[in-house]
Amino acid sequence: MPESKYNATVVGKILLRPDIMTLRVDTDEPREEFSAGQYTLLGLFGSEGRTPDSTIEADPAEPDKLIQRPYSIASATRQRSQLEFFISLVKSGQLTPRLFNLSPGDRLFVSKRIVGVFKLAETPPNKDIVMVATGTGMAPYMSFLRSYLTERPESKIAMIQGATKQWDLGYYSELNFLANMFDNFIYLPTLTEADPTWNGHQMWIEEMLEADVLEKEAGIVIDPQKTHFFLSGNPKMVASVSNWLMDRNYSKHSRKKPGALHVEEFWT
Ligand SMILES: Cc1cc2nc3c(=O)[nH]c(=O)nc-3n(C[C@H](O)[C@H](O)[C@H](O)COP(=O)(O)OP(=O)(O)OC[C@H]3O[C@@H](n4cnc5c(N)ncnc54)[C@H](O)[C@@H]3O)c2cc1C
Repeated sequence: MPESKYNATVVGKILLRPDIMTLRVDTDEPREEFSAGQYTLLGLFGSEGRTPDSTIEADPAEPDKLIQRPYSIASATRQRSQLEFFISLVKSGQLTPRLFNLSPGDRLFVSKRIVGVFKLAETPPNKDIVMVATGTGMAPYMSFLRSYLTERPESKIAMIQGATKQWDLGYYSELNFLANMFDNFIYLPTLTEADPTWNGHQMWIEEMLEADVLEKEAGIVIDPQKTHFFLSGNPKMVASVSNWLMDRNYSKHSRKKPGALHVEEFWT
């Protein structure tokens, strides 16, 4: 029965840590055009095995039920059938322990629909962009940088990535490479428990904003008329940074009411 629903094959799986991975899949048919920042559904049946790194699931899945969850696409938008995802393991969850058990060649379900309003490319061309992420919240930004960085030379684009230790910084090498290649892209990782060898920032994201690091290092001002903010990842970080920005005249973007603050919360 799973075979009839599955429409994609795993072509790559890289573990950044035992509980964070990039997963690359090849869909049987190319997807429709999509925007950087959007997401799709991944799915596996309850009968699939769970990684030994997981715990007993809080809510046991029915073997014949297709478990589906949304995941942001991390690959460039020109790649319509090779999609990359950046996924963290929820040990007691239903889907992620099964996704972490996959190997190259295994089959899974990938929805044909790619949706979401967290569209970085829709930011007006003359605005600067600040992307803020923790954990797998990096995924939509990687899609944006891989798709559009060369097309936005007039915008200053900064990425603030918050993590605990250096090895938690997903895509660190690629982001440093992009920052070296493109004058308009500034990469600002910050750690809360850094090793002595780390010579980057060591503060909370709100402290970085408060300390005017963006203006000092990137020439970007915190002003909704000039700069759009994107926040993605841990809901506590998203709520706290959103509040900080809303105190400075930012309003949340929605389809009906455009604003300069765009948020994507990953835990629902
Ligand atoms: C628009 C959107 C985009 C998303 N993109 C990504 C992505 O790119 N990468 C990614 O890893 N996840 C992403 N997620 C989260 C993802 O959809 C699942 O919620 C997550 O992978 C957990 O699924 P699960 O079936 O293993 O756990 P479930 O069985 O659904 O959840 C078990 C419990 O764990 C909590 N939980 C969910 N996620 C986490 C977490 N990360 N850490 C701790 N507790 C958690 C839930 O609130 C729930 O109570 C996204 C969610 C949304 C809404």
